[in-house]
Amino acid sequence: MTGAGSGIGRATLDLYTERGWNAVAVDISPRGLADLADRPDVATVIGDVARERTNAEAAGAALERFGRLDAAVLNAGYGGGGPLESPGALERLAEVLTVNVIGAAAGIRGAAPALRASGGGAIVVTASVSGLRGDPSTWAYNAAKAAQINLVRGAAIDYAPENIRINAIAPGGTVTPMTRSQVDHPTFGKTIARRIPLGRWAQPREQAEAIFFLTSSAASYITGTVLSVDGGLSANGG
Ligand code: NAD
Repeated sequence: MTGAGSGIGRATLDLYTERGWNAVAVDISPRGLADLADRPDVATVIGDVARERTNAEAAGAALERFGRLDAAVLNAGYGGGGPLESPGALERLAEVLTVNVIGAAAGIRGAAPALRASGGGAIVVTASVSGLRGDPSTWAYNAAKAAQINLVRGAAIDYAPENIRINAIAPGGTVTPMTRSQVDHPTFGKTIARRIPLGRWAQPREQAEAIFFLTSSAASYITGTVLSVDGGLSANGG
């Protein structure tokens, strides 16, 4: 579970462990993982998901501590960008592509050998509704999340013969530290909520449930898909 120190990642870690799974929590922020250090059911790896070493350490921790790997949730990511002509915009694009796209690709590469050794398994990438459309001044994130979705489609085809299923979720606005300032903004949070058919932002647990479903045997014939978890936002034209 990458990005396990906060938000959707932490909610997902909690959901799996409540249901009896062991987990390897990966995050670049040591602070985010500090409260997990003494848990018998959780191993922690501090590192950048865009580095191969982090992903190799995570798979290694699953094998050493728990004996096998059955699923990988590649959730770490962030946005940013600003207007395309603003100073430093291309550097920010490179950063956003690195964490989201290289991070997801490195995560698949890191998890695949251990999943293969288990006879197969499942990978879920946390993409975004922003990968399915454009948003104002969000082009770097739009590009990165769209790339994650097509990475998932391509990788799903390659790994299907090994019974490794690879899917994405596309969350809509979800209340996490990443979006806290938007949710709490006097008007913005409510303006976004009005555009969502279900009329509200998601809770991280609702994203976690979708991720859990995609790694479960209930999704045994599902691979290469993107599951929108957005309160109907994409059905409404975004
Ligand atoms: P968050 O900021 O609460 O959590 C993200 C976590 O990822 C943090 O703990 C952070 O330290 C970690 N992280 C960031 N870069 C990393 C790196 N290079 N290596 C390892 N860990 C790293 O954010 P969140 O809202 O929970 O977002 C989780 C995922 O969901 C992201 O991929 C985000 O793009 C996606 N998403 C979020 C929303 C939303 O509205 N919150 C909507 C759509 C998609």
